[in-house]
Amino acid sequence: MAEKITQAIRFKSQKNGKTSPAEMQALAFSKQEQKTRGLQTLALFWVIATVCVLIPIAHFILVPGFLIGGVVAAKRRWNKDKEGLDARGACPACHNNIRIALEKNAELPQWHDCPECGDALELQAVPDAPDDQEKNV
Ligand SMILES: [Zn+2]
Repeated sequence: MAEKITQAIRFKSQKNGKTSPAEMQALAFSKQEQKTRGLQTLALFWVIATVCVLIPIAHFILVPGFLIGGVVAAKRRWNKDKEGLDARGACPACHNNIRIALEKNAELPQWHDCPECGDALELQAVPDAPDDQEKNV
């Protein structure tokens, strides 16, 4: 089973350039799970390609499309080690607690609009060093 992880990130406001701490929930996959997910995707695409053989004329495009598309999609899924669930934290512009759905994307940086004030937020990775802000206090 995929493991649910929480990663420290930060929100950066496009409007005022301020940042605020946040956290991202994601599903992390083991190497075995990545391999299984990749092979499942390949099998699905190739089953669809096989069914498309029965469609006259369109099969000249659909069959090679699903065969090649299956390899590309499977490779992508195989290489994906985590899927983002959501990000939570205080918006640096309006200071409301917000939750942003990540739609399975866990790659950073990524950009979303604040659901409260509509400001564009950049979700950034936090460097591995433990909280720099605490040292400065
Ligand atoms: Zn906001």
